[in-house]
Amino acid sequence: MKTQNNIKDKDKLIQDFKEICRRNKLKVTPQRTIIYNELISSKEHPSVEILYKKVKDKLPDISFDTVYRTLLTFYELGLARVVEGICSSKRYEGNTQDHYHFICTNCGSVYDIEEVKYSYEIPQLIKQKYSPKNVRIIFEGLCSDCAKI
Ligand SMILES: [Zn+2]
Ligand SMILES: [Zn+2]
Repeated sequence: MKTQNNIKDKDKLIQDFKEICRRNKLKVTPQRTIIYNELISSKEHPSVEILYKKVKDKLPDISFDTVYRTLLTFYELGLARVVEGICSSKRYEGNTQDHYHFICTNCGSVYDIEEVKYSYEIPQLIKQKYSPKNVRIIFEGLCSDCAKI
């Protein structure tokens, strides 16, 4: 079930974004705001390449490097996350709430799974050897479109 939450919460996210920028002494430029807006509007967990294409529609003069560096800055400020488990180009998202991903091994689509709480006990052996802070769970397989083929 898809909810419309994202659209409703967008104003709030933009507000928080401006606040976080200010706190980190980062200017809230129209460029940064547009990049952030595109990131949180996208459900597809875009790579820099994809995001760059979208941003370029609105800001024809923007360079790839600017989008790339802006995303890294967002990542450092906790405004963006990198989708784990993908070896090709890094994929980003503006959804910083804890959730799981389903990654299609055929087409590479990344889906958010937010409705499910999946608990996982960290095995004793790992706790003895390391100091794990969190567990990330990725579901892999075929998305519904690819399963039909
Ligand atoms: Zn697929
Ligand atoms: Zn996600």
